[in-house]
Amino acid sequence: MKGVNNGQKTGPNLREEAGRQGRGHDNEPSRCKEGISRDMSEAKKKSPQRIPVSSKKLRLSGDGLDGVLLGMKCNNCGEYFLSAPNFCANCTSDDLEEVELSKHGTLRSYTVVHTPPPGWQGNVPYILGSVELPEGPSIRSEVVDCPQQSLKVGMPVDMVLRVAGKDKEENEVVVYSWKPASE
Ligand SMILES: [Zn+2]
Repeated sequence: MKGVNNGQKTGPNLREEAGRQGRGHDNEPSRCKEGISRDMSEAKKKSPQRIPVSSKKLRLSGDGLDGVLLGMKCNNCGEYFLSAPNFCANCTSDDLEEVELSKHGTLRSYTVVHTPPPGWQGNVPYILGSVELPEGPSIRSEVVDCPQQSLKVGMPVDMVLRVAGKDKEENEVVVYSWKPASE
């Protein structure tokens, strides 16, 4: 009888296997691959287009070739803002309206960036300038088409649009930057 029992070890062995698999599940990686393939199939349905890097800061023309910076203006005291505050930081009024900002500004300071932020798809190093708009606010973005030795604090600059890269849906992401004024 002992010989027969030895031949039927499958019972205890199966239980042992099941126990091992149960513990193993805790260490399995999450199913992130399924999520990625689902995103890719949805992306194929839309045709690529030009999109602004931030729809709250930049409004593009229909073909995406032209654009204008957006800001907020306080209708009570006339102060301008770049972002969209809930109330005016100058007079606390909540009577704010969206306005288009100037495409011309003045370079107030700049720095050369050797370590770009995550996701940066442009040149490295690049020049990050702080440009004061005639309406008052200063905006920080890249200065292009200007060798570093030609940069001067106080120089007039014009806004230019360029495609900085593509998002996961193959849309061309348009960013605003500054170049020396044409005059
Ligand atoms: Zn105000």
